[in-house]
Amino acid sequence: MPSAVAQSGFNEFVERLWPEARAKGVSRGVFDRAFRGVRPDPDILEKDAHQPEFVKPIWVYLASAVSARRIETGARKLRAYRSLLDKIEARYGVDRHVLIAIWGMESSYGSFRGKRYVVRSLATLAYQGRRQRFGRTQLLAALRILQRGDISPAKMTGSWAGAMGHTQFIPTTYNTHAVDFDGDGKRDIWGNIPDALASTANYLRASKWRKGETWGYEVVLPRGFDYGLAGRKRVKTLREWRGLGVKRVRGRIFPRPDDRASLILPTGARGPAFLILNNFRSILRYNNATAYALAVGHLSDRIRGFSGFARPWPKDAKPLARAEREELQRLLTSKGFSTGGADGILGSRSREAIRAYQRARGLVADGFPSQTLLKRLRREAG
Ligand code: CA
Repeated sequence: MPSAVAQSGFNEFVERLWPEARAKGVSRGVFDRAFRGVRPDPDILEKDAHQPEFVKPIWVYLASAVSARRIETGARKLRAYRSLLDKIEARYGVDRHVLIAIWGMESSYGSFRGKRYVVRSLATLAYQGRRQRFGRTQLLAALRILQRGDISPAKMTGSWAGAMGHTQFIPTTYNTHAVDFDGDGKRDIWGNIPDALASTANYLRASKWRKGETWGYEVVLPRGFDYGLAGRKRVKTLREWRGLGVKRVRGRIFPRPDDRASLILPTGARGPAFLILNNFRSILRYNNATAYALAVGHLSDRIRGFSGFARPWPKDAKPLARAEREELQRLLTSKGFSTGGADGILGSRSREAIRAYQRARGLVADGFPSQTLLKRLRREAG
């Protein structure tokens, strides 16, 4: 598409957005200033269209998310902001190590806050591509932030997907949860650390964080354990898990045996196992990926001075490529274990199908999509 044509289409899109923005309380002056000189960002359309061939193995993700440097910087930030963290903990009841860990995960403690103009990024996503609805909702929310005067357009920067500032809030999260902790009248998550950390605490409290509790524990499972009990949706008290022979690593005890927990096995029976508690679910509200919440929880523990995981990851297990994941889904479905489609995304339905297949064949039913499993299915298919 010639760029002049693209620009005129974009201008029409912006004009069609105006009545909706006005209905949300945005003035024409703020609207015009927000879109002055804005063109779609071709780089963002490319990123939006890109789907990675491989899902990064969790141990690779964790090694960079919870690096020695990030642990050490986190411990330093903990000391540097001690009195601020005292006040935030007192007001919101959210553990300081977790706040620092989220800050580390989201922007490497403010080092990578994103330099793109948020209105341009979101307008691009709203105008074209796979995430138009998301883009439109967030764009309107971003205009409301400008209307309120919390930040100027020039300083309203973020990631290509519209995540902003130290805490990487998207605009709707910002509008609901950001706070002005230093009391200067502006909620500044871009440049003000008290506002940013308190906003994160406020969001976690709204996500039902429980004061004085942790995110979860690494555990060891007894021989012959029924892996069908694993999964985020299956909840038991720690006492019940202990009754099933599940123990904390390194001989530690569960301090509050009545806390309710689910068992997760990110790499199946061969890797570390975790009992996750209520606060793990609060972290998932920030970013709904198990690997993310595990990284935040683990980073918070490491910043506190705890040691690494006791059990090694199965680093020799090569993750399935997208075509292999689709093949796995097709083969399972053809054997009568429906995965609800073959889209290459192994969600809970696919995991349950794997589990059912494993159970039917007398295998360890951990629901994990391994190369060994795929080979076996291929053999069966002849
Ligand atoms: Ca402020």
